Amino acid sequence: MAGNMSQPRATVRLDGREIAAPLRQHTAAAVAALRQRGVVPSLAVVRVGDDAASQIYVGAKLKAAAALGIVALEHHLPAADSQGAVESLVAALAGDDGIDGILVQLPLPRHLDVEGVLAQVPASKDVDGFGLHSLGALAAGAPGLRPCTPAGVMRILEHWAAERGEHLAGKRALVIGRSRIVGKPVALLLLAADCTVTIAHSRSVDLAALVAEADIVVAAAGSPRLIRGSWLRPGSVVIDVGIHRLSDGSLCGDVDTEGAQGVAGAITPVPGGVGPLTIAQLMANTVAACEARRA
Ligand code: NAD
Repeated sequence: MAGNMSQPRATVRLDGREIAAPLRQHTAAAVAALRQRGVVPSLAVVRVGDDAASQIYVGAKLKAAAALGIVALEHHLPAADSQGAVESLVAALAGDDGIDGILVQLPLPRHLDVEGVLAQVPASKDVDGFGLHSLGALAAGAPGLRPCTPAGVMRILEHWAAERGEHLAGKRALVIGRSRIVGKPVALLLLAADCTVTIAHSRSVDLAALVAEADIVVAAAGSPRLIRGSWLRPGSVVIDVGIHRLSDGSLCGDVDTEGAQGVAGAITPVPGGVGPLTIAQLMANTVAACEARRA
């Protein structure tokens, strides 16, 4: 029937929990193998101050570690602690042979210099992948621990491409956001996957036109429902990294998910999209760091 040609196609929901399951199983098997040899992977989480969101994120990470048999210990410092106190703790963890991964939960209180604190984390234990060495290795295409959220975004995209019997190579990818922890590393990973990459940021002109050209949209602007469904190229895949709590208590992302229905080919939900991959990747990085140091 000719009329069916214009029927919008259903938008696939890219369920992060489902997509993360094989990675979690792989990590659990690697932990079991290490434990059989008497090696217990361990993660140290440093949290400074009482940021409510950080408390929730750290709680989720500790729970995920425990479920996989990774020992994770939280070091919680008072918000008023000095640069020297925080750096000393991280340096002590760096020198502790029993610790495989160190995660400094961001944001840090404003009086602290993030760069100085992160500089205390050696590349071999940089399971968040935010350190200068790790980011440099990513930019150079050298081996190293990759940042968790960007690596999680790539796992979702690889899953999407594999389901369709396609490749990411040659696809036009738009990354919205250029932060150190999401936008820039995602763009580098997409480039490594042979996508043609555009990076949009707060000074970009005509975001709608850039979105309309993209086969892949990774939204990491940190702005609730910034990207309208009507901007999207029909059939595109949309990875919504943003997460925002609205005044009614509900959560939303950077994309107008409802407006994207029937336009996007596939989209990640918020919550339950990128978040589960971020945590699963952190656990995988911790085990990889353990294997590399203690194999
Ligand atoms: P950020 O504030 O550091 O960076 C936002 C970037 O978006 C900046 O580079 C800015 O130039 C760009 N931007 C802002 N407004 C824009 C606009 N109108 N058009 C185009 N670009 C614009 O944020 P971030 O740390 O990269 O995080 C982005 C979002 O992702 C936040 O909502 C954050 O909560 C979320 N996040 C989620 C996870 C997860 O695991 N799901 C992990 C990290 C961050």
